[in-house]
Amino acid sequence: MDVGANNLVACTTTTGQQCLYEGRDLFARFRETTEEIARLQSKLREGRYSSQRIQRLYRKRTRRRDHAQDALVHDLIERLYEEGVATVYVGDLTDVLSVHWSARVNEKTHQFWAYRSFIDRLATTAKEYGIAVEVESEAYTTAECPVCGERDDTERDGDVFRCSCGYEGHADLDASRTFLERQAGTNLEVGSMARPVRLKWDDHNWSELPSSPERASPNEERTNWSTGDGKLVSMGTA
Ligand SMILES: [Zn+2]
Repeated sequence: MDVGANNLVACTTTTGQQCLYEGRDLFARFRETTEEIARLQSKLREGRYSSQRIQRLYRKRTRRRDHAQDALVHDLIERLYEEGVATVYVGDLTDVLSVHWSARVNEKTHQFWAYRSFIDRLATTAKEYGIAVEVESEAYTTAECPVCGERDDTERDGDVFRCSCGYEGHADLDASRTFLERQAGTNLEVGSMARPVRLKWDDHNWSELPSSPERASPNEERTNWSTGDGKLVSMGTA
């Protein structure tokens, strides 16, 4: 799985499943609360640094994020358990944060992701299901073309990844697939992909978004680039 900015988690399994947990709305609300906190802080009387209202907003912001993270972890682990997954490889964001995100991502974003606590939650829940979690470096997977391996002559526009070779796909889902292939090494092959499951947070649950054929189809056709004989590889062990 790939942990990212606009999409909280993009995940690919060796059984050919992909899922995507969208984070834009959640992050927008987190930022709204942060701005409200800043506004209240600017109105504090001299010598005061906080207020009950500010403290309440901080707690609300954290609680909301933790709730969504917790629900995401349970939803994801249950899906993986159903697929017979034994090991989850998580891309280590810490080097990505320092290398690629330093200019664009500020302190607020770091707080929002709370990456360490997310990994702890994930590991705890996975353990309950007998699934191992391994954190590995994912440097470059986001920028690498899954077809030709190009790293420099590529561009990312929102969720869309484009390469000079003509390939176009979903940046985070592709990254999770490239990452999985790298972890799996030569003894595992990721098979053809089912249509990705997209999930959105509604304050209580992560629910599946209806797939939109117009948007998904060009992507989907291209996602099958490496299917070769089109056989689904079902290892059930990675
Ligand atoms: Zn390419």
